[in-house]
Amino acid sequence: MTNIFEESRPGRLGVQLPPTRTEAPAGIPKEALRAELPWPELSEPQVVRHFVRLSRMNHAIDVGFYPLGSCTMKYNPKINEEMARLAGFAWLHPLQPEETVQGALQLMWELEQDLAELTGMDQVSLQPAAGAQGEQTGILMIKAYHQSRGDLERTEVLIPDAAHGTNPATASLAGFEVVEVKSDQRGGVDLTELRAKLGPKTAAVMLTNPSTLGIFEDNIVEIARLTHEAGGLLYYDGANLNAILGKCRPGDTGFDVVHVNLHKTFSTPHGGGGPGSGPVGVKAHLAPFLPGPTVGRDGDRFHLVPGGPQSIGQVRSFYGNFGMHLRAYTYIRSLGRDGLTEVAEDAVLNANYLLHLVKDLMSVPYERLAKHEFVVGLPRAIKDRTGVRTLDVAKRLLDFGIHSPTVYFPLIVEEAMMIEPTETESKETLDAFAAVLAQVLEEAVTDPELVKTAPHTTPVRRLDEARAARQPILRYRP
Ligand SMILES: *Cc1c(COP(=O)(O)O)cnc(C)c1O
Repeated sequence: MTNIFEESRPGRLGVQLPPTRTEAPAGIPKEALRAELPWPELSEPQVVRHFVRLSRMNHAIDVGFYPLGSCTMKYNPKINEEMARLAGFAWLHPLQPEETVQGALQLMWELEQDLAELTGMDQVSLQPAAGAQGEQTGILMIKAYHQSRGDLERTEVLIPDAAHGTNPATASLAGFEVVEVKSDQRGGVDLTELRAKLGPKTAAVMLTNPSTLGIFEDNIVEIARLTHEAGGLLYYDGANLNAILGKCRPGDTGFDVVHVNLHKTFSTPHGGGGPGSGPVGVKAHLAPFLPGPTVGRDGDRFHLVPGGPQSIGQVRSFYGNFGMHLRAYTYIRSLGRDGLTEVAEDAVLNANYLLHLVKDLMSVPYERLAKHEFVVGLPRAIKDRTGVRTLDVAKRLLDFGIHSPTVYFPLIVEEAMMIEPTETESKETLDAFAAVLAQVLEEAVTDPELVKTAPHTTPVRRLDEARAARQPILRYRP
């Protein structure tokens, strides 16, 4: 494949740049300056083709099915982008005087209210830039809460064995010891284990509900009671909020603090597609510890409110990713109360329909009503007979234009595949996915090499994933 550096020809122009300044502005250290900047010289169509070509080398939700469990890769409605491009929003500067950004502040204030309402919390901060940072913010607030009461012996955070890796990482980064709580036979928190591990050292219990197995924790009210009785607080990992939107509020089931992943439940772009956003919500007893600034309201005037004397301090520059607040707000307002409830209903319906289609193909560790996602495993008979593994099946799906589901998570399910279709997929897409999965499992038996060497049709084949993540090659080198 050609690349733009090799296509470059001296003097070829795509854009007229203003005359260059001859001297660098003062204050830039010498070692940061270079005499030459060998930019490729190209016409506009060459540049456009280059970037369109690159975009076609990736899979995206705008291209095809993306059932990546836990991550809620739902379609992001284009009206979100239209709103984000309105000049009055797009050209805002974070240092503008408050009286010139009243509309933006009102939007943030209303989003805070909406998220508080949807999660059953008393106050929200929009600051954290991801779910993981929301976790960190929440756990630091819990720590500050115990310290403010002189309750200094609480050194442990209890986390179920099905949890996402960020939960234990968050707890240990905040200086806590992680205590694992086993799941029971039905995939819920084992109450006997929980009782045994709760105690005067418990600072918090972190839960995802529905869990990463896609199962609603039906003992949640009892878990909250036990946690509070032991003097701990209950943290809600909101990654799976999509399943219960408008149906059940974490605040009503006893949670003290939540984070919400706007890029999952509220249709803002993920990762490479845009910055994340992980607002936190708290019950009143944790409100003094919230990071500032939040947004306050005086009649019809809005202003930024700095954190109070007990605040854990600012966790991100300014007030978080405003562009994401704007998109999430658009999503909430364009769907409304009934629309959001329908989101949860359709997400759950799609997941259960797809589970029904694949349950005879894969092994099903927990035969229960799924919420928005479900976990299955590659049947042991296939693995033993052919050596094909879940990873191979995942890679082969790429040849059919389908992004793989999440694999090998949660850790407690052997050869796990976690499938989350989301509410935005049609019945035809789900039927087609099940048919492709059936075909790949058939191939695993009749032609295992085909599956083990997949993908065959993608721009790159199997990568060394650890190296690709840790030593990415981000520059062209001739
Ligand atoms: C995605 C996810 C997280 C982390 O959220 P980010 O926004 O990716 O930082 C935490 N817990 C669960 C269950 C998740 O799925």
